[in-house]
Amino acid sequence: MSEKIKQPIYLTVDFEDYRYNFSRDFLSIKKYYIDEVERQYWILRNIFKKINAKALFYIVGEVAEKLSEDLVNDINLNFDIGSHSLNHLKLLKMSEDEIYRDTKKSIELIENKFLKKIEHYRAPYFSIDKNETNYYKAISKAGIKFSSSLRQKKNNSKKVINLNEYGITEIPLRSIGFGLKRITVIGGSYFRLMPISLIEKLISDTIKLNFLPLIYIHNYEADYLAPPIMKKNKLNLKLQSNDYLRRLGRSTVEKKLIYLSKKYSFQSLDNFVKNY
Ligand SMILES: [Zn+2]
Repeated sequence: MSEKIKQPIYLTVDFEDYRYNFSRDFLSIKKYYIDEVERQYWILRNIFKKINAKALFYIVGEVAEKLSEDLVNDINLNFDIGSHSLNHLKLLKMSEDEIYRDTKKSIELIENKFLKKIEHYRAPYFSIDKNETNYYKAISKAGIKFSSSLRQKKNNSKKVINLNEYGITEIPLRSIGFGLKRITVIGGSYFRLMPISLIEKLISDTIKLNFLPLIYIHNYEADYLAPPIMKKNKLNLKLQSNDYLRRLGRSTVEKKLIYLSKKYSFQSLDNFVKNY
C-alpha cells in the first residue's frame, strides 16, 4: 500500500523518566536516570525510522533540561514537541496557580533547551478530571494552545474541542469503563498488553465514533531490556508487581507498530491541529 492511501493515525510520545517517577512516588528517592531515558529515545527512534513515523513528543521539563545536545538536535530535526509538565506530578488537586507555575517553568526549560516555541501540553496521567477549569485557565495563561489530556466516552461531531474562552484546542482521547481504572484508547500499558487484533478493533471503533485516531506511548515502552527497579524482597511485593506490569509486553511494541504501519501512516498531532 502506498503512503498516500494509508489512513493517518496520530502518534504522541510522553517523554519522561519512569525510574525517577517510580522512585520518587513510592520510595521517596529523587534521582534522574538520563542515560536510560536517552537509550530509550534511540530504541524508539530506530523503530520510528523503520516505519517512517512522525510523532509529537510531550517532554517533562526537568528531563528536557538534562538531555544531551545530540538527542535535542535529533528530536528537533525529526519530531514536534510539547510539554508534559515540570516533573510529572498529578494535577488533580492542584490550584490554578500551582498548575500555572508548574506549566510555565516546564515551558521555560524546554524552550531554552530546544529553542522552539512550546504550544502543546499533555497532563501527567491525564490527571485533569474534575479540575478542568483550573487546568485550562492555567495552561492558557502559560501560553499553551493545544492540549490532549481529556478522556471521554463519547465525542460530538467534531474531532477536536475548541475552548474559545481559553484559546485552547483540546484533542480528546476515547476512554472505556469507569473512574480512575478506565482504559484510555489506545496506548501505554494497554498497547503493550493487548493483542494486536484488539488494538486494531479499538482503533477502528474509535474512528467510527468520530474521535481522532491517536496512539500515545512512552519512551520506555519498547525498552524490554531495562532492569527491574526493585530487588526481590517479600516486603515490597506490591511495588515489584507494579514495576513488573510497567515492563510487561515491552518486547511486543516494535512488532505492533510495524504491523500497524502497513495499514496506517503515523503522523504528528501538531501537523493535524495546524491544518485543521
Ligand atoms: Zn507521563
